[in-house]
Amino acid sequence: MRLLVTGGAGYIGSIVAQQLLAAGHEVVVLDNLSRGHRAAVPDGAGFVEADLLDPPALAAAVAEGFDGALHFAALSLVGESVARPELYWRNNVAGTLNLLDALRAAGVGRLVFSSTAATYGEPEQVPIEETAPTRPVNPYGASKLAVDQMIGDECRAHGLGAVSLRYFNVAGASGCLGEDHQPETHLIPNVLRAALGRQECVQIFGTDYATPDGTAVRDYIHIEDLATAHLLALDGARGGEHRIFNLGNGNGFSVREVIEAARAVTGLEIPVREAPRRPGDPPILVAASGKIRAELGWEPRKPALADMVGDAWAFAQAHPHGYAGAPAA
Ligand code: UDP
Repeated sequence: MRLLVTGGAGYIGSIVAQQLLAAGHEVVVLDNLSRGHRAAVPDGAGFVEADLLDPPALAAAVAEGFDGALHFAALSLVGESVARPELYWRNNVAGTLNLLDALRAAGVGRLVFSSTAATYGEPEQVPIEETAPTRPVNPYGASKLAVDQMIGDECRAHGLGAVSLRYFNVAGASGCLGEDHQPETHLIPNVLRAALGRQECVQIFGTDYATPDGTAVRDYIHIEDLATAHLLALDGARGGEHRIFNLGNGNGFSVREVIEAARAVTGLEIPVREAPRRPGDPPILVAASGKIRAELGWEPRKPALADMVGDAWAFAQAHPHGYAGAPAA
């Protein structure tokens, strides 16, 4: 298939683009490079520098003709979304509305959307099923939920076939492609920065949660397993339907377990500092992953934390300053 990948210069989009190319698809990445890296766009993919908030540029890019689109381009920092919600409503919601308009005008009938567990908010029950109430607790989650609702309406009214994948905690790297955010807020990259001495220590946000070791529990999924799910989702899109799947392994690991895994992988001490809870962080987020396994046949190949941390460590060592100064992938 000929596929448009919005946000394909980012962590997840670039690795999905790489897998699509490896599977024989033709890929064009569309990215405004506001958060992504030109060097992350895989070799063999076309590249258009354009913004979803620029409808003429978007229409021109989409008019090239595509069999489907995978939509990653979005802002994704919870704290930033609380401080500046307008950025999230404009980029994530208005940007996706523009994309849907462009896809409809060009007759592109297939869409895979990068949604999030943040659409659920504080879960009443763990593991979280797709039928759980959606009550996001921050503008980031609210903006992604609004997009999910918009996509559902588009499918019902105009026949689009769409799949939303609600990611839990994505981790690891894939060869020369990995995670490089500015600022970095995620746990595993920060643990590895502390291991490399690029920051003094890693902070543990909250040690008084009602969890076995007092630290928050998350469902980490390897980026390569997450990417594979997008290829299955693309095949699983059905005209007029909006299918929603959680995407996690169904296993929870605490912050302390992640740090221990990183100590084992790196053989380094990794200094820690206990700190207060980070506002808005729920104690436990674990996916019920039965639906995507049963309906799309997804199976993780790297569910072990050691693989995720090990691959992230290989990327961190090869790119101690992220993509800065790196040649094109
Ligand atoms: N966390 C932490 N120290 C850090 C970054 C994150 O203790 O430097 C905790 C965070 O409070 C949460 C978990 O690690 O409980 C995962 O956070 P991350 O930002 O990686 O993902 P999130 O679950 O917020 O999407």
